[in-house]
Amino acid sequence: MTRWRYAAATDTGLVRQSNQDAIYVDDRLAMVADGMGGHAAGEVASAMTIDLVRDGFEVRPTVEGLYNAINAANLAVLKNAREDPAHFGMGTTVIAVGLTSDGDGVTSPTLFHVGDSRAYQLRDGALRQLSDDHSVAEEWVRMGRLTSEEAAVHPRRHQLTRGVGVEDTIAIDVISLSAEPGDRILLCSDGLSNELDNDTLARLSSVPFTLEESVAQLMESAREAGGRDNISAVLLEFDEVQVAAAPIKRTVTSNPPPVALRPNVAASRLRRAKRLTWRVWAALALLASVVVGFFVVVHWYAYSSFYLGSDAGTIAVYQGQPSGVLWYKPVKISDTPYQASQLRAADQQALAATISEPSLEAALHWADYIHSQYCHYHSCRTGTGTTTTTTPTHSTTTVRVTTTTAKGG
Ligand code: MG
Repeated sequence: MTRWRYAAATDTGLVRQSNQDAIYVDDRLAMVADGMGGHAAGEVASAMTIDLVRDGFEVRPTVEGLYNAINAANLAVLKNAREDPAHFGMGTTVIAVGLTSDGDGVTSPTLFHVGDSRAYQLRDGALRQLSDDHSVAEEWVRMGRLTSEEAAVHPRRHQLTRGVGVEDTIAIDVISLSAEPGDRILLCSDGLSNELDNDTLARLSSVPFTLEESVAQLMESAREAGGRDNISAVLLEFDEVQVAAAPIKRTVTSNPPPVALRPNVAASRLRRAKRLTWRVWAALALLASVVVGFFVVVHWYAYSSFYLGSDAGTIAVYQGQPSGVLWYKPVKISDTPYQASQLRAADQQALAATISEPSLEAALHWADYIHSQYCHYHSCRTGTGTTTTTTPTHSTTTVRVTTTTAKGG
């Protein structure tokens, strides 16, 4: 079991018009939040954070519960700032000590910290700072770029590197406190720590002063030193302390929120998808027309000419290329009344090799001619005959064929 007593106060100071600090303390939780933002926004951020963290820790008084409560406050402040233009840019620091329970019934003090509010531990009159300021100047001190003296007057000493309600993710320093009965813990906003040096803080916060006397002296001394900012102090004194079985000292960063496409990004991707679809359809249409065009051209070429050939001794007219084109084979479209044997020897040889003609009429005319040439020297039957023709599409038509009359003899 860990028990403490406490005293606390907050003050507007002598310069600011309003108090944007917020504090809270009870038997299990102590907090200071220093709000920032124009008009009343800073007050909103610090008050929201104090309320949400208190409520969250009340439901789940564990390290995870307090961490989750600060994380929830971060998201809530951020959401409010985004939705309400009057609260744009608001945020807050938070520094809290909670008596957190573990699974074995041990209740130990744990410090949670974001921003530049501070926690100090006082033992036997000595002061030790427990928290690192999350400000640009103090980060540079830790990196070795500035000395503490340079940081104290640096123009970026008030510029925070972390805060509640600043970003979707938040990094929280979580530290298990190692305390003894009689130790005091001071939580304060920078309105106190900027006005009073460490020696003054240590002297005023320690015994023999009671907790109430110490807090009153701290507030009054900060005002006397200038009171240029809001001043807040929460002072705890341990009567009994348990130590965490598994002490923690680390910075815990919340998970980034799920990626949600902004409407304009989504619309842009939709437009791109539509453009892509249009192009795909255009490409498919072009490909289809090329394929169809290929078949049309091949079909036209395959059946664009005629030739004479022999079919079982009869001179016949075929449409197509003698050797075929791809899968398009020549088609017999007409038998003539002439026998291949009734041709001159040279014409018989030519017929055997097929005789090409540009049209059906030309082919029939040439058949008449070469037959008449044979009959010019031989006795041939003359007259008019009718023959059946077949088109490549297998429909049936009738072509009238007139044989020539043999001349002379
Ligand atoms: Mg301040």
